[in-house]
Amino acid sequence: MRLIVQKFGGSSVANTERIFNVARIITDTYKTGNSVIAVVSAQGDTTDDLIEKAKEVNPNASKREMDALLSTGEQISAALLAMAIQSMGYPVISLNGHQCGFHTDSNYSKARIKRIDTERLEKELDSKRIVIVTGFQGMNRFDDITTLGRGGSDTSAVAIAAAMKADLCQIYTDVDGVYTADPRLVPSAQKLDEISFDEMLELASCGAQVLHNRSVEMAKKYNVKLEVCSSLERVPGTKVKEVTKMEKLLIKGVAKDDDVVRIAVIGLPDKPGIAFKIFSLLAAKKINVDIILQSIGRDGTKDISFTVPTDSCDTALELLKAEQNLLRAHSIEVDTDVTKVSIVGAGMQSNPGVAAKMFEALYEANINIQMISTSEIKISVLISKDLGVKAMNALSEAFIK
Ligand code: ADP
Ligand code: ASP
Ligand code: MG
Repeated sequence: MRLIVQKFGGSSVANTERIFNVARIITDTYKTGNSVIAVVSAQGDTTDDLIEKAKEVNPNASKREMDALLSTGEQISAALLAMAIQSMGYPVISLNGHQCGFHTDSNYSKARIKRIDTERLEKELDSKRIVIVTGFQGMNRFDDITTLGRGGSDTSAVAIAAAMKADLCQIYTDVDGVYTADPRLVPSAQKLDEISFDEMLELASCGAQVLHNRSVEMAKKYNVKLEVCSSLERVPGTKVKEVTKMEKLLIKGVAKDDDVVRIAVIGLPDKPGIAFKIFSLLAAKKINVDIILQSIGRDGTKDISFTVPTDSCDTALELLKAEQNLLRAHSIEVDTDVTKVSIVGAGMQSNPGVAAKMFEALYEANINIQMISTSEIKISVLISKDLGVKAMNALSEAFIK
Protein backbone atom coordinates (compact mmCIF):
# COMPACT_ATOMS: atom_id res chain seq x y z
CA MET A 1 0.00 0.00 0.00
CA ARG A 2 1.30 3.44 -0.90
CA LEU A 3 1.47 6.29 1.59
CA ILE A 4 0.74 9.71 0.14
CA VAL A 5 1.13 12.98 2.04
CA GLN A 6 -1.06 15.75 0.62
CA LYS A 7 -0.76 19.37 1.76
CA PHE A 8 -3.51 21.91 1.19
CA GLY A 9 -2.77 25.64 1.45
CA GLY A 10 -4.96 28.40 2.85
CA SER A 11 -6.88 29.19 -0.32
CA SER A 12 -7.57 25.50 -0.92
CA VAL A 13 -9.52 25.25 2.36
CA ALA A 14 -10.82 28.85 2.43
CA ASN A 15 -14.56 28.00 2.73
CA THR A 16 -16.97 25.08 3.10
CA GLU A 17 -17.14 24.40 -0.62
CA ARG A 18 -13.34 24.32 -0.87
CA ILE A 19 -13.13 22.07 2.19
CA PHE A 20 -15.43 19.55 0.51
CA ASN A 21 -13.40 19.85 -2.69
CA VAL A 22 -10.27 18.95 -0.71
CA ALA A 23 -12.15 16.17 1.09
CA ARG A 24 -12.95 14.66 -2.31
CA ILE A 25 -9.29 14.79 -3.43
CA ILE A 26 -8.29 13.01 -0.23
CA THR A 27 -11.02 10.39 -0.30
CA ASP A 28 -10.42 9.69 -4.01
CA THR A 29 -6.79 8.97 -3.13
CA TYR A 30 -7.82 6.82 -0.17
CA LYS A 31 -10.47 4.92 -2.15
CA THR A 32 -7.91 3.73 -4.66
CA GLY A 33 -6.05 1.88 -1.92
CA ASN A 34 -3.60 4.47 -0.59
CA SER A 35 -2.92 5.56 2.97
CA VAL A 36 -3.31 9.33 3.22
CA ILE A 37 -1.95 11.93 5.61
CA ALA A 38 -3.27 15.39 4.75
CA VAL A 39 -1.55 18.48 6.12
CA VAL A 40 -3.56 21.69 6.18
CA SER A 41 -2.93 25.42 6.48
CA ALA A 42 -5.21 27.98 8.10
CA GLN A 43 -8.23 29.01 6.02
CA GLY A 44 -7.74 31.95 3.63
CA ASP A 45 -6.31 34.98 5.41
CA THR A 46 -6.82 33.59 8.91
CA THR A 47 -3.16 33.85 9.90
CA ASP A 48 -2.98 37.52 8.80
CA ASP A 49 -6.23 38.24 10.62
CA LEU A 50 -4.92 36.66 13.82
CA ILE A 51 -1.77 38.78 13.59
CA GLU A 52 -3.93 41.90 13.27
CA LYS A 53 -6.02 40.84 16.25
CA ALA A 54 -2.90 40.34 18.35
CA LYS A 55 -1.65 43.81 17.39
CA GLU A 56 -4.89 45.34 18.61
CA VAL A 57 -4.42 43.77 22.00
CA ASN A 58 -0.65 44.06 22.36
CA PRO A 59 1.68 45.08 19.54
CA ASN A 60 4.64 43.80 21.58
CA ALA A 61 3.20 40.41 22.51
CA SER A 62 5.78 37.71 23.20
CA LYS A 63 6.59 35.32 20.38
CA ARG A 64 5.45 32.43 22.58
CA GLU A 65 1.93 33.85 22.84
CA MET A 66 1.92 34.74 19.13
CA ASP A 67 2.65 31.09 18.32
CA ALA A 68 -0.08 29.95 20.71
CA LEU A 69 -2.49 32.21 18.81
CA LEU A 70 -1.40 31.57 15.22
CA SER A 71 -1.41 27.79 15.61
CA THR A 72 -5.17 27.89 16.14
CA GLY A 73 -5.79 28.74 12.48
CA GLU A 74 -4.52 25.34 11.35
CA GLN A 75 -6.47 23.59 14.10
CA ILE A 76 -9.72 25.02 12.74
CA SER A 77 -8.98 23.79 9.20
CA ALA A 78 -7.92 20.33 10.37
CA ALA A 79 -11.05 19.77 12.47
CA LEU A 80 -13.40 21.11 9.77
CA LEU A 81 -11.78 18.96 7.10
CA ALA A 82 -12.06 15.88 9.32
CA MET A 83 -15.75 16.69 9.87
CA ALA A 84 -16.31 16.98 6.10
CA ILE A 85 -14.64 13.60 5.52
CA GLN A 86 -16.67 12.05 8.36
CA SER A 87 -19.84 13.27 6.71
CA MET A 88 -18.80 11.46 3.54
CA GLY A 89 -18.60 8.23 5.50
CA TYR A 90 -14.85 7.67 5.71
CA PRO A 91 -12.77 6.87 8.82
CA VAL A 92 -10.75 9.97 9.70
CA ILE A 93 -9.01 11.71 12.57
CA SER A 94 -7.46 15.17 12.94
CA LEU A 95 -4.27 15.68 14.95
CA ASN A 96 -2.50 18.87 15.97
CA GLY A 97 1.28 19.27 16.02
CA HIS A 98 1.52 18.12 19.61
CA GLN A 99 -0.66 15.04 19.08
CA CYS A 100 1.32 13.88 16.07
CA GLY A 101 4.67 14.16 17.85
CA PHE A 102 6.09 17.14 16.01
CA HIS A 103 9.15 18.26 18.01
CA THR A 104 10.90 21.56 17.26
CA ASP A 105 13.47 23.82 18.87
CA SER A 106 12.30 26.79 20.97
CA ASN A 107 12.84 29.50 18.39
CA TYR A 108 9.23 30.76 18.57
CA SER A 109 7.81 32.00 15.24
CA LYS A 110 10.70 30.44 13.29
CA ALA A 111 11.08 27.06 14.94
CA ARG A 112 13.15 24.33 13.34
CA ILE A 113 11.94 20.74 13.28
CA LYS A 114 14.00 18.38 15.42
CA ARG A 115 12.15 15.10 15.01
CA ILE A 116 8.71 13.59 14.54
CA ASP A 117 7.66 10.75 16.82
CA THR A 118 5.66 8.81 14.29
CA GLU A 119 3.98 6.30 16.65
CA ARG A 120 0.60 8.00 16.73
CA LEU A 121 0.57 8.57 12.98
CA GLU A 122 1.46 4.93 12.38
CA LYS A 123 -1.20 3.72 14.78
CA GLU A 124 -3.91 5.77 13.07
CA LEU A 125 -2.83 4.65 9.60
CA ASP A 126 -2.78 1.03 10.79
CA SER A 127 -6.39 1.40 11.83
CA LYS A 128 -7.10 2.52 8.27
CA ARG A 129 -7.93 6.08 9.16
CA ILE A 130 -7.29 9.08 6.98
CA VAL A 131 -5.13 11.37 9.12
CA ILE A 132 -5.45 15.14 8.95
CA VAL A 133 -2.54 17.03 10.51
CA THR A 134 -2.24 20.74 11.29
CA GLY A 135 0.60 22.32 9.33
CA PHE A 136 2.93 25.07 10.52
CA GLN A 137 3.25 23.95 14.15
CA GLY A 138 5.02 21.73 16.62
CA MET A 139 6.05 21.74 20.25
CA ASN A 140 9.31 22.45 22.00
CA ARG A 141 10.93 20.63 24.90
CA PHE A 142 8.71 22.49 27.37
CA ASP A 143 5.64 21.15 25.54
CA ASP A 144 4.87 24.68 24.37
CA ILE A 145 3.44 25.34 20.92
CA THR A 146 5.85 26.65 18.29
CA THR A 147 5.31 27.70 14.67
CA LEU A 148 7.66 27.20 11.74
CA GLY A 149 7.52 30.64 10.07
CA ARG A 150 5.15 32.00 7.42
CA GLY A 151 4.41 29.46 4.72
CA GLY A 152 5.70 26.70 7.00
CA SER A 153 2.93 24.16 6.34
CA ASP A 154 4.81 23.02 3.24
CA THR A 155 7.70 22.13 5.53
CA SER A 156 5.38 20.26 7.92
CA ALA A 157 4.16 18.14 5.00
CA VAL A 158 7.62 17.34 3.68
CA ALA A 159 8.88 16.57 7.19
CA ILE A 160 6.04 14.11 7.73
CA ALA A 161 6.66 12.56 4.30
CA ALA A 162 10.35 12.14 5.19
CA ALA A 163 9.69 10.74 8.68
CA MET A 164 7.01 8.32 7.43
CA LYS A 165 9.02 7.41 4.30
CA ALA A 166 5.98 8.31 2.19
CA ASP A 167 5.89 7.34 -1.46
CA LEU A 168 4.86 10.83 -2.54
CA CYS A 169 4.34 14.32 -1.10
CA GLN A 170 1.89 16.49 -3.02
CA ILE A 171 1.63 20.21 -2.31
CA TYR A 172 -1.84 21.31 -3.47
CA THR A 173 -2.20 25.06 -3.98
CA ASP A 174 -4.04 27.72 -5.99
CA VAL A 175 -1.78 27.49 -9.06
CA ASP A 176 -1.31 24.30 -11.08
CA GLY A 177 2.45 24.04 -10.60
CA VAL A 178 5.71 25.92 -10.43
CA TYR A 179 6.04 28.55 -13.14
CA THR A 180 9.08 30.38 -14.46
CA ALA A 181 7.77 33.37 -12.47
CA ASP A 182 4.74 34.15 -10.32
CA PRO A 183 1.98 33.82 -12.96
CA ARG A 184 -0.05 36.48 -11.17
CA LEU A 185 2.69 39.06 -11.83
CA VAL A 186 4.14 37.78 -15.10
CA PRO A 187 1.34 36.74 -17.48
CA SER A 188 3.78 35.14 -19.93
CA ALA A 189 5.29 32.84 -17.28
CA GLN A 190 5.50 29.19 -18.33
CA LYS A 191 4.60 26.18 -16.27
CA LEU A 192 7.48 23.79 -15.63
CA ASP A 193 6.96 20.01 -15.82
CA GLU A 194 9.87 19.57 -13.46
CA ILE A 195 12.51 21.56 -11.62
CA SER A 196 15.59 20.49 -9.66
CA PHE A 197 15.74 20.77 -5.88
CA ASP A 198 18.62 23.26 -6.14
CA GLU A 199 16.83 25.55 -8.55
CA MET A 200 13.58 25.36 -6.58
CA LEU A 201 15.46 26.09 -3.38
CA GLU A 202 17.02 29.23 -4.89
CA LEU A 203 13.67 30.36 -6.31
CA ALA A 204 11.92 29.81 -2.97
CA SER A 205 14.71 31.58 -1.09
CA CYS A 206 14.48 34.48 -3.57
CA GLY A 207 10.80 35.04 -2.85
CA ALA A 208 8.78 32.53 -4.92
CA GLN A 209 6.40 31.62 -2.09
CA VAL A 210 4.86 28.68 -3.96
CA LEU A 211 7.05 26.47 -1.74
CA HIS A 212 8.53 27.28 1.67
CA ASN A 213 12.28 27.19 1.16
CA ARG A 214 12.88 24.85 4.09
CA SER A 215 10.45 22.34 2.61
CA VAL A 216 12.65 22.13 -0.48
CA GLU A 217 15.81 21.85 1.61
CA MET A 218 14.25 18.97 3.51
CA ALA A 219 12.88 17.23 0.42
CA LYS A 220 16.37 17.31 -1.07
CA LYS A 221 18.01 16.04 2.11
CA TYR A 222 15.63 13.09 2.53
CA ASN A 223 14.96 12.59 -1.17
CA VAL A 224 11.22 13.06 -0.81
CA LYS A 225 9.25 12.66 -4.03
CA LEU A 226 7.69 16.11 -4.26
CA GLU A 227 5.02 17.50 -6.54
CA VAL A 228 3.24 20.88 -6.70
CA CYS A 229 -0.29 20.74 -8.09
CA SER A 230 -3.63 22.54 -8.14
CA SER A 231 -6.43 21.76 -5.71
CA LEU A 232 -8.89 23.37 -8.11
CA GLU A 233 -8.05 21.67 -11.39
CA ARG A 234 -7.04 18.05 -11.78
CA VAL A 235 -4.12 18.53 -14.17
CA PRO A 236 -0.50 17.29 -13.87
CA GLY A 237 1.60 19.58 -11.68
CA THR A 238 5.34 20.19 -11.38
CA LYS A 239 7.75 17.56 -10.09
CA VAL A 240 10.58 18.81 -7.88
CA LYS A 241 13.45 16.33 -7.99
CA GLU A 242 17.21 15.80 -7.86
CA VAL A 243 17.96 15.54 -11.56
CA THR A 244 15.83 16.96 -14.31
CA LYS A 245 15.66 16.46 -18.06
CA MET A 246 18.06 18.25 -20.40
CA GLU A 247 17.81 21.97 -19.87
CA LYS A 248 15.66 23.66 -22.46
CA LEU A 249 15.76 26.95 -20.62
CA LEU A 250 18.97 28.65 -19.54
CA ILE A 251 17.06 30.37 -16.76
CA LYS A 252 14.48 28.34 -14.83
CA GLY A 253 12.82 31.24 -13.12
CA VAL A 254 12.54 34.83 -12.04
CA ALA A 255 11.57 35.73 -8.48
CA LYS A 256 10.95 38.86 -6.46
CA ASP A 257 11.35 39.43 -2.76
CA ASP A 258 9.74 42.59 -1.39
CA ASP A 259 10.61 41.62 2.13
CA VAL A 260 14.02 43.36 2.21
CA VAL A 261 15.44 46.67 3.38
CA ARG A 262 18.82 48.22 2.68
CA ILE A 263 20.91 49.58 5.51
CA ALA A 264 23.95 51.76 4.81
CA VAL A 265 26.63 52.55 7.36
CA ILE A 266 28.32 55.68 6.06
CA GLY A 267 31.76 57.14 6.70
CA LEU A 268 33.44 54.24 8.47
CA PRO A 269 37.21 54.29 9.05
CA ASP A 270 38.93 52.50 6.15
CA LYS A 271 40.71 50.03 8.43
CA PRO A 272 40.83 46.25 8.89
CA GLY A 273 38.18 44.70 11.15
CA ILE A 274 35.31 47.09 10.47
CA ALA A 275 33.22 44.67 8.41
CA PHE A 276 33.92 42.00 10.99
CA LYS A 277 32.61 44.23 13.79
CA ILE A 278 29.41 45.15 11.96
CA PHE A 279 28.49 41.68 10.80
CA SER A 280 29.36 39.94 14.04
CA LEU A 281 26.99 42.32 15.83
CA LEU A 282 24.22 41.25 13.47
CA ALA A 283 25.18 37.57 13.54
CA ALA A 284 24.96 37.52 17.34
CA LYS A 285 21.27 38.38 16.99
CA LYS A 286 20.80 35.81 14.19
CA ILE A 287 20.06 38.53 11.62
CA ASN A 288 20.31 37.18 8.12
CA VAL A 289 22.38 39.52 5.96
CA ASP A 290 22.00 39.07 2.24
CA ILE A 291 23.57 41.37 -0.37
CA ILE A 292 26.65 43.23 0.91
CA LEU A 293 28.40 46.12 -0.77
CA GLN A 294 31.50 47.95 0.45
CA SER A 295 32.65 51.12 -1.26
CA ILE A 296 36.27 51.78 -2.15
CA GLY A 297 38.00 53.72 0.63
CA ARG A 298 38.46 57.42 -0.07
CA ASP A 299 40.01 60.00 2.29
CA GLY A 300 40.38 57.28 4.90
CA THR A 301 36.67 56.39 5.02
CA LYS A 302 34.38 53.86 3.40
CA ASP A 303 30.67 52.91 3.39
CA ILE A 304 29.21 49.45 3.94
CA SER A 305 25.67 48.70 2.86
CA PHE A 306 23.71 45.47 3.07
CA THR A 307 20.20 44.08 2.96
CA VAL A 308 18.30 42.35 5.76
CA PRO A 309 14.74 40.94 5.93
CA THR A 310 12.20 43.67 6.77
CA ASP A 311 11.32 42.13 10.12
CA SER A 312 14.98 42.32 11.22
CA CYS A 313 15.38 45.98 10.31
CA ASP A 314 14.51 47.51 13.68
CA THR A 315 16.76 45.16 15.62
CA ALA A 316 19.63 45.72 13.18
CA LEU A 317 19.25 49.50 13.49
CA GLU A 318 19.14 49.37 17.28
CA LEU A 319 22.31 47.32 17.36
CA LEU A 320 24.16 49.56 14.93
CA LYS A 321 23.02 52.82 16.52
CA ALA A 322 24.13 51.59 19.93
CA GLU A 323 27.61 50.97 18.48
CA GLN A 324 27.73 53.92 16.09
CA ASN A 325 30.29 55.88 18.13
CA LEU A 326 32.47 52.87 18.71
CA LEU A 327 32.36 52.03 15.00
CA ARG A 328 33.15 55.71 14.31
CA ALA A 329 30.45 55.73 11.64
CA HIS A 330 29.32 59.09 10.34
CA SER A 331 25.68 58.03 9.82
CA ILE A 332 23.34 55.10 9.36
CA GLU A 333 20.71 55.18 6.64
CA VAL A 334 17.79 52.89 5.82
CA ASP A 335 15.95 52.44 2.54
CA THR A 336 12.71 50.46 2.73
CA ASP A 337 11.69 51.31 -0.82
CA VAL A 338 13.64 48.43 -2.37
CA THR A 339 12.98 44.96 -3.77
CA LYS A 340 15.24 42.12 -4.77
CA VAL A 341 14.73 40.53 -8.16
CA SER A 342 16.60 37.35 -9.03
CA ILE A 343 17.09 35.01 -11.95
CA VAL A 344 17.78 31.35 -11.19
CA GLY A 345 19.04 28.55 -13.40
CA ALA A 346 21.59 25.75 -13.21
CA GLY A 347 22.31 26.48 -16.88
CA MET A 348 24.10 29.73 -16.05
CA GLN A 349 27.07 27.83 -14.59
CA SER A 350 28.20 26.77 -18.04
CA ASN A 351 26.98 29.75 -20.03
CA PRO A 352 28.92 32.99 -19.93
CA GLY A 353 27.16 36.28 -20.52
CA VAL A 354 24.05 35.65 -18.41
CA ALA A 355 24.79 38.60 -16.11
CA ALA A 356 25.43 40.90 -19.08
CA LYS A 357 22.13 39.84 -20.65
CA MET A 358 20.30 40.44 -17.38
CA PHE A 359 21.77 43.92 -16.96
CA GLU A 360 21.02 44.74 -20.60
CA ALA A 361 17.36 43.76 -20.15
CA LEU A 362 17.11 45.96 -17.05
CA TYR A 363 18.85 48.83 -18.80
CA GLU A 364 16.44 48.59 -21.72
CA ALA A 365 13.55 48.74 -19.26
CA ASN A 366 15.20 51.83 -17.77
CA ILE A 367 15.66 50.18 -14.37
CA ASN A 368 18.53 51.33 -12.20
CA ILE A 369 20.44 48.66 -10.28
CA GLN A 370 21.43 49.56 -6.71
CA MET A 371 23.21 46.37 -5.67
CA ILE A 372 24.16 43.06 -7.25
CA SER A 373 24.93 39.64 -5.84
CA THR A 374 25.61 36.31 -7.50
CA SER A 375 25.88 32.65 -6.62
CA GLU A 376 26.57 29.64 -8.85
CA ILE A 377 23.00 29.41 -10.10
CA LYS A 378 21.52 32.81 -9.25
CA ILE A 379 21.96 36.52 -9.91
CA SER A 380 20.08 39.03 -7.76
CA VAL A 381 19.72 42.77 -8.10
CA LEU A 382 18.34 45.30 -5.67
CA ILE A 383 16.11 47.89 -7.34
CA SER A 384 13.44 50.41 -6.45
CA LYS A 385 10.30 48.67 -5.12
CA ASP A 386 7.86 50.14 -7.65
CA LEU A 387 9.89 48.66 -10.52
CA GLY A 388 9.81 45.07 -9.25
CA VAL A 389 7.04 43.70 -11.45
CA LYS A 390 8.37 45.57 -14.48
CA ALA A 391 11.80 44.02 -13.90
CA MET A 392 10.33 40.51 -13.59
CA ASN A 393 8.52 40.90 -16.88
CA ALA A 394 11.57 42.37 -18.64
CA LEU A 395 13.72 39.46 -17.44
CA SER A 396 11.10 36.86 -18.40
CA GLU A 397 10.94 38.44 -21.83
CA ALA A 398 14.74 38.33 -22.20
CA PHE A 399 15.37 34.81 -20.94
CA ILE A 400 12.23 32.72 -21.12
CA LYS A 401 10.02 33.67 -24.03
P1 ADP B 1 -0.71 28.19 -0.29
O1 ADP B 1 -1.68 28.99 0.50
O2 ADP B 1 -1.35 27.08 -1.07
O3 ADP B 1 0.46 27.74 0.50
P2 ADP B 1 0.89 30.34 -1.41
O4 ADP B 1 0.18 31.63 -1.59
O5 ADP B 1 1.81 30.19 -0.28
O6 ADP B 1 -0.22 29.17 -1.44
O7 ADP B 1 1.70 29.99 -2.75
C1 ADP B 1 1.05 29.97 -3.99
C2 ADP B 1 1.29 31.29 -4.71
O8 ADP B 1 2.67 31.42 -5.01
C3 ADP B 1 0.63 31.41 -6.05
O9 ADP B 1 -0.69 31.85 -5.92
C4 ADP B 1 1.52 32.39 -6.81
O10 ADP B 1 0.97 33.69 -6.81
C5 ADP B 1 2.80 32.42 -5.99
N1 ADP B 1 4.03 32.17 -6.76
C6 ADP B 1 5.17 32.89 -6.64
N2 ADP B 1 6.11 32.45 -7.47
C7 ADP B 1 5.56 31.41 -8.15
C8 ADP B 1 6.06 30.52 -9.17
N3 ADP B 1 7.31 30.62 -9.63
N4 ADP B 1 5.23 29.56 -9.62
C9 ADP B 1 3.97 29.45 -9.17
N5 ADP B 1 3.45 30.26 -8.20
C10 ADP B 1 4.23 31.23 -7.70
N1 ASP C 1 -0.90 29.63 7.94
C1 ASP C 1 0.52 29.88 7.89
C2 ASP C 1 0.79 31.14 7.09
O1 ASP C 1 -0.14 31.78 6.63
C3 ASP C 1 1.30 28.71 7.36
C4 ASP C 1 1.06 28.34 5.92
O2 ASP C 1 0.10 28.78 5.29
O3 ASP C 1 1.87 27.57 5.38
O4 ASP C 1 1.92 31.51 6.95
MG1 MG D 1 2.26 28.64 1.08
